[in-house]
Amino acid sequence: MRYVVDHDLHIHTKQSPCSSDPLQTPARIVRYAEENGFSTVCLADHFWDELVPTCSNWYEKCDFACICESLGYTPPVDNGVKLLFGCETDIDKHFQLGVSRQRMELFDFIVIPTTHMHMTGLTVDATDSAPERRAELYVKRLDALLSMDLPFEKVGIAHLTCPLLSNVETHLDVLDMVSDGVFRELFARAARLKTGIELNFELSCYQGEDIERVLRPYRIAKEEGCLFYFGSDAHHEDVLLRSKENFEAIVTALDLREEEKFRVPAKADSLFNK
Ligand SMILES: [Zn+2]
Ligand SMILES: [Zn+2]
Repeated sequence: MRYVVDHDLHIHTKQSPCSSDPLQTPARIVRYAEENGFSTVCLADHFWDELVPTCSNWYEKCDFACICESLGYTPPVDNGVKLLFGCETDIDKHFQLGVSRQRMELFDFIVIPTTHMHMTGLTVDATDSAPERRAELYVKRLDALLSMDLPFEKVGIAHLTCPLLSNVETHLDVLDMVSDGVFRELFARAARLKTGIELNFELSCYQGEDIERVLRPYRIAKEEGCLFYFGSDAHHEDVLLRSKENFEAIVTALDLREEEKFRVPAKADSLFNK
C-alpha cells in the first residue's frame, strides 16, 4: 500500500525567532491539518534547553518558557487532528545535545538536526568551511547522534539533505562525498533504533541528475529498513500551502510504502491534552 501522507511533524510557530510571524499560530497549524486531511501535526520550535550550558548565543531566545507559550492554545477535541508538543533542538560542536534528560520527558516528539552547520560558533568553527570538512562533520555528527542514549522511538532526524549542511551551491557535492557504504552503515543503525528519518526538502527545487543525488541517501535508508516521516519545516503560511503536493511527489519518487511510516508513540500525558 502506498504511504499515506497524513501528518507533518516539523512545523515552526511564531515562537521561533526565524519565524516571528504573528500568523504562524497553533490554531493556523491545526487548520492546515484539517485542510489537508492530516491526523497528526507537531509544533517543533527551535529549542536549546537553558539547563544545558551552551558555547554560543544562537539560541538565547529559545528557552523552555518561550516554546511553552504555544501551550496556551487549547486544541479542538472533535476534529480528528492530534496536535503534538515537540521541539527542534541541536547538537553543538562538542556533540552535546541541547535538551536535558528531564525536559526530554515532556515532549511528544523531538526533532534533531545534524545538518545545522550554518551556526558558526555553535555547531562548527569558522575553519570548518571546506566541502571535504563538511562531509567529514556530516558523518561524525550523525554518528554522534546515533551513539547517544535517547528515547529514539520519539526522535526524528531532521532534514539530512538540506543546504544548511554547506550551502545551496555545494550541499549536493558534500553529500556525494559520503559513500553508499557509509550511509548504509549509519542508516542500518537508525533502523535498529527505530528512529524517524525526516523527509524535508522541496523536490521541485532539483532538476536533472540532481534529483537522484538528493534522493540517494533516502533510497539507501529505505533499503536498510528505516522509517520515514514528513516535515514541512514551515515558518510561514506559504510553505503550509504547498507542502502536501511536495510530500506526495516525494512518496512517488521514493516509492514509499505505508509500512515504512514512522509513527510517534501515543503519550497519555501530552502537555497539549491536559
Ligand atoms: Zn532545522
Ligand atoms: Zn525547523
